Amino acid sequence: MRCLFLFGRDLRLHDHAGLAAAARIGEVVPACVQSPAFVARMERSPRRAAFYRSALASLAHDLEARGTRLILRSGARVATTLRLVREAKAEAVAWSASYDAAGVAEDRALQSALEEAGVRATIVHDALAVAPDDTAAARSEDGGLGYRALAPYVAAWLTLPRDPIATNVTFVAHGLASELLPVEGNGESDSGGDPGIHRPDFKEIASEVATLARFEAFVSGPILQYPFARNVPGSGETARLSAALSFGLISARTILARIDERAHDPFLLVEERLALSTFARALARRDFFLQLAWFFEERADDALQSRMRGFAFAKDHAALDAWRDGRTGYPLVDAGMRQLRATGWMHPRVRTIAASFLCFDLGVDWRVGRDAWDRELVEDEPALATGNWQWVCGLGADLAQFPRIFNPRKQARAIDPRGAYVRAWIPELADVSDAELFATGLAHPAPQLSLALYEREPYPSPVVEHEAAARDFLARYAAFVSSDRAKP
Ligand SMILES: Cc1cc2nc3c(=O)[nH]c(=O)nc-3n(C[C@H](O)[C@H](O)[C@H](O)COP(=O)(O)OP(=O)(O)OC[C@H]3O[C@@H](n4cnc5c(N)ncnc54)[C@H](O)[C@@H]3O)c2cc1C
Repeated sequence: MRCLFLFGRDLRLHDHAGLAAAARIGEVVPACVQSPAFVARMERSPRRAAFYRSALASLAHDLEARGTRLILRSGARVATTLRLVREAKAEAVAWSASYDAAGVAEDRALQSALEEAGVRATIVHDALAVAPDDTAAARSEDGGLGYRALAPYVAAWLTLPRDPIATNVTFVAHGLASELLPVEGNGESDSGGDPGIHRPDFKEIASEVATLARFEAFVSGPILQYPFARNVPGSGETARLSAALSFGLISARTILARIDERAHDPFLLVEERLALSTFARALARRDFFLQLAWFFEERADDALQSRMRGFAFAKDHAALDAWRDGRTGYPLVDAGMRQLRATGWMHPRVRTIAASFLCFDLGVDWRVGRDAWDRELVEDEPALATGNWQWVCGLGADLAQFPRIFNPRKQARAIDPRGAYVRAWIPELADVSDAELFATGLAHPAPQLSLALYEREPYPSPVVEHEAAARDFLARYAAFVSSDRAKP
């Protein structure tokens, strides 16, 4: 039998559940169908589009080395795929499941159109280390439903196998037409003309081989300091794998298998073993949010917690642009936002504080923040964006009784005590002393910060006073949850 395999956000050839399933059906014709919705999503973030093009080019190159050619076609997903099925004389189509609401709907539509046309359609869970149905089945009391809370999910996840999948594929050497594929390394070609924005060299990082090499470098050293690095943004390294994982340049199973292997090193210290398991739990958290999106897809744009659906966050705030631009007057928030705008990535811990600031200090809707970041981020994981934003602003899977409002000044002292992170991203503060940077008990930053001493551009005063804003938010929150509107 001949099977058309549709690459999506799974741009690699090894440890690939979707490709392995296609290979079990028969010989494989590799293709990529880009629907207008997918193209629009890519174009929302120029850096993401550049990363994707580069990853696609590198996949096409790897396929050529395997004696076949990637077929690229643009157009409505169903009609374009049906046409390709006929041209390729395929009897089956396989692809990896999506987890964002738009992707899931597209998958369903394609599956039923193919089945109606008498073509076998196979959708495979590939992005997670443990497929959503496997963790749900482990939940004996109501098997089939996903988890809404992280702790029991991780407890079940840890007991389940997550081994890499052997992917031995026979590809068809075909002569079918393809649209022009991006050329390897040209991913940055039209990523916007702003010369002030630093763009990483995607040629180096947006490929399966380069991602494996980067991960190997991380796992052989920096991973042992991971618990520190993930909490202290100015020190050490986190894995920086979110973009590669989101486009499937590496599989979560491969990562976990390598971590297990590393854990067998008899010379590791207790803290180093702990670092490995902390990192494995970060991937469990990723699986958790993906299964949450899979089982609760109707919550992609609305609060998971039903009692919070009527809570009125503002859609706008006079300081919204200041938040976006990294000019709120709270250095840690501003450094995070500037890092995001400059690189397409923000340190994970700082994300929590910058998001908390938007939702609680400014009272702005989490969707406004999620969508603003979506235009900057390289990674492409809508399910993780929604899950994390809802978590931070207390509407999602985190079942904390009260909103966890971060104090951005206290957080700065706790996680960036030498100001290394803040100084790296805010040049106006580069020469400010530690005492001035972390001046306590001030309604406004030390007056020096806004004096002409820093002639380039003075660092702004706080756009809101944190304590007052947090008290105001909590009062509104308390009034809401005790009202009838908060009843499920
Ligand atoms: C408000 C907010 C919004 C976020 N939005 C996104 C998003 O749009 N896309 C996205 O991929 N991630 C998002 N995250 C999760 C996380 O911050 C990023 O995946 C992380 O910054 C990736 O950097 P890293 O690879 O160095 O992470 P590491 O700390 O090295 O972790 C390794 C991997 O574990 C997974 N992981 C770690 N933390 C989380 C988490 N909280 N949730 C889910 N998976 C996790 C990621 O796949 C990550 O690549 C968000 C977090 C917050 C708090």
